[in-house]
Order: sequence, then structure tokens, then C-alpha cells
Amino acid sequence: MKKSSLCGECGLPAQGFLYKHNDVYYGSCSMEHLERIKERIEKGEKLARKTYTNNLGVQYARKQSKEKYLEIAKQTGSFELHKWSNEQRDSFFNTIILNYLDFESELGNDNGSDEIL
Ligand SMILES: [Zn+2]
Repeated sequence: MKKSSLCGECGLPAQGFLYKHNDVYYGSCSMEHLERIKERIEKGEKLARKTYTNNLGVQYARKQSKEKYLEIAKQTGSFELHKWSNEQRDSFFNTIILNYLDFESELGNDNGSDEIL
């Protein structure tokens, strides 16, 4: 089970509050948000997002992507993303996403158990 999923209501890290519905676990940051998520699901409301990022994965991707960031900053002479070309930004975001996916697939290899949405 992934422990660092985010709250389905506000996006803060889930703190161990879980609501299970049709074999899907929804994480929550607090009892209050757990209740709200429960109400929304019972009303048949679709939650805004079906997937959430793993906070640890985001941190990992940020750290792993630092080198790419510095490389492009050096090329462009600017640390400001809006001064980079679209290609440079794409290349940077691609690096972040790949690093994030690396982290997630490592997690996936570690456990085959329930996923929290
Ligand atoms: Zn919340």
C-alpha cells in the first residue's frame, strides 16, 4: 500500500485516513475531508482527479532533475523557465516526469498490494 498518497479532497498528503469503496481506497488528510470524500462518492459525484502524485516521488524527481535544470540554465544563461525555449522546457519537464515514473515503477516493484487513489 502506498503511504504517501494525497488527500482526494484537498491534495495535501494523506494521513492514514482511508475510505474504501468498490475495492478502491481513497486517501484523506483528515476526518473532515474523509467525510466529504465519502459524501461525494456516495452521491455518485466524480472526484476531480483519479490519480494523485506521490509526494516522495515528486521530491525524488525534483532532486534527480537538478542536473538537467543547471545544464539548461547554463545554456540559456537564465534560471527562469519562461526565458527558456519550448524545446528546453519540454526537455526539462521530460526529465522530471521520467524521474518520477522511475520512482513509481520502483515502488510498483516493491509491492503488489492495494493502490490508493
Ligand atoms: Zn484534505
